[in-house]
Amino acid sequence: MELFRKIEREYQELRDADEKAHRKKMAKLYRNLPELEALDQKIQRLGIEGAKEQLLHPNSKGLSEINEALYTLREEKAHLLMTMGLPRDYTKVDYRCELCEDTGRLEDGSRCRCFKQRISRELYEMSNLNLQLEKENFLTFDLGIFSKDVYDGENLSPRDNMEAILRVVRRFIDDFEKNNDFNMLFYGTTGQGKTFMLNCIAKELLDKNVNVIYQTAFNIVDIVEDRRFRRNEATQMKYELLLNSDLLIIDDLGIERINAFSTSEIFNIVNSRLLSGKKTLISTNLSPKELSSTYTDRVFSRVFQKFMPLKFYGEDLRLR
Ligand SMILES: [Zn+2]
Repeated sequence: MELFRKIEREYQELRDADEKAHRKKMAKLYRNLPELEALDQKIQRLGIEGAKEQLLHPNSKGLSEINEALYTLREEKAHLLMTMGLPRDYTKVDYRCELCEDTGRLEDGSRCRCFKQRISRELYEMSNLNLQLEKENFLTFDLGIFSKDVYDGENLSPRDNMEAILRVVRRFIDDFEKNNDFNMLFYGTTGQGKTFMLNCIAKELLDKNVNVIYQTAFNIVDIVEDRRFRRNEATQMKYELLLNSDLLIIDDLGIERINAFSTSEIFNIVNSRLLSGKKTLISTNLSPKELSSTYTDRVFSRVFQKFMPLKFYGEDLRLR
């Protein structure tokens, strides 16, 4: 997949840059501290000798002598660096990620957390979330646009309702790290600010380094089908992010191609997240009644019990 190759190329470039920066740093350091260069050469030669000895005579006296000498040289080096006010690990390569040393892979061959994070960033871009977050966040949220008049058939005015929703959302964000089965379902007709509210939450949590995946139900079905028909590492990883991200936001549930496959896949994802204690937010234009008739699956009732339903109502804000 193009995206995967692109990110792997980025990692290769990052490593090249790391090494280049390291060579430059060392050249400068050696110019100022020629003794250090001599020491490093000795350490390197002795290290090779030690490795050879380790292979040929692993329990020999020679090997322990080499190790002792190496230890002394390293201490000498640390002391030399200290006199320059530098830490003892100063001559190591500076990697952006110490875990994988900017290779994107761990020693056991699995993908590093930073690589997965990079993929999930790419997924927000796919959902255009990056652009939205600049415009739609709590700083730009304006309660003033909601009417103060009690709305037809409801107990509260849209503004009071929104204030109540905001309090719940605040608690969701503040308690996000807690293991509390707190999931929310935003429902109501279009133009009530549901997506805006989802963006506010995403922005707030992303700023706290929470791994947030935001996708429309439509895109989720795409990801699921892509994995089904073209099983490879990239499609698999995207799918796993739907399962494993700290927060999954499913926007616009009910507009995807609804068939037995897509319905059961979406609910499998939500259900497996519930089981592993991962949080999910869902928004939909359907009413709970319409939802239950659209997704007749038994899973539906089991899943939605675990969601706090919050109704958005009022005039269509897009008309204002
Ligand atoms: Zn890493």
